[in-house]
Amino acid sequence: MRGASGTAKSPRASRADPWVRAPRAAGSYAGQVDWIRYDAALFDLDGVLTPTALVHMAAWAETFDAFLAGRGQPAYTEQDYYDHVDGRPRYEGVATFLASRGIELPYGDPSDPPEADTVCGIGNRKNVAVNEVLDRDGVDPYPGSLRLLDHLGDAGIRMAVVSSSANAPHVLKVSGIADRFEVVVDGAVAARDGLPGKPEPDTFLAAADRLGVAADRAVVLEDATSGVRAGKAGGFGLVVGVDRGAGPQALSAAGADVVVADLAELLP
Ligand SMILES: [Mg+2]
Repeated sequence: MRGASGTAKSPRASRADPWVRAPRAAGSYAGQVDWIRYDAALFDLDGVLTPTALVHMAAWAETFDAFLAGRGQPAYTEQDYYDHVDGRPRYEGVATFLASRGIELPYGDPSDPPEADTVCGIGNRKNVAVNEVLDRDGVDPYPGSLRLLDHLGDAGIRMAVVSSSANAPHVLKVSGIADRFEVVVDGAVAARDGLPGKPEPDTFLAAADRLGVAADRAVVLEDATSGVRAGKAGGFGLVVGVDRGAGPQALSAAGADVVVADLAELLP
């Protein structure tokens, strides 16, 4: 008769060994991120922690539709958002989208008023629309994301937000999760420090550096292909693609190691 210290392996014994895992149903990644191997989690904000993508998409559509109508162009579409705008810094999103329609405008200057027909003016117009919606409606974090933040906080994982958006502090405040993060690298910080935006890895690397964590000990969580590419390019320990519409194939092709539909799938 074997005692409790015997060598027979029960199914639960594999839980102690990070290299042995029970088979999972196809498409389910539950429990497959072994958080003990990582010291930090670097979260994109919009679409990963908060459903602000919907706020942003509405604000972009309002802004671009008015602009395009004045030029006799077809309406802006949801696919335009995913192909040209999602995850990019605001002015780059404007420039990339306009280029896709063969429209050339002067770049202008970030200080341009929202009425200006420049890349920066259009970007500023959209920002006004976003802030109006946020102040009026607020935004709740995804429940699954909140559960993962709770778990990682309890586990002592360091956490940062890395967002292309200059609205990140506003979103963090109205969603009530600002105090969860030691470091926030947002669009304003990137501009101040001269960091190129996603898909370049610099903003994620800066966040890891500020946390004092090596890239290969940090996990990047992103819903945009541009952000996944940034995580891949940065040599991070793990890149999690969060599929909120970009599609699992696009996220995998951009370099995601794991694709989930909800952050609760990453709970043990
Ligand atoms: Mg995002």
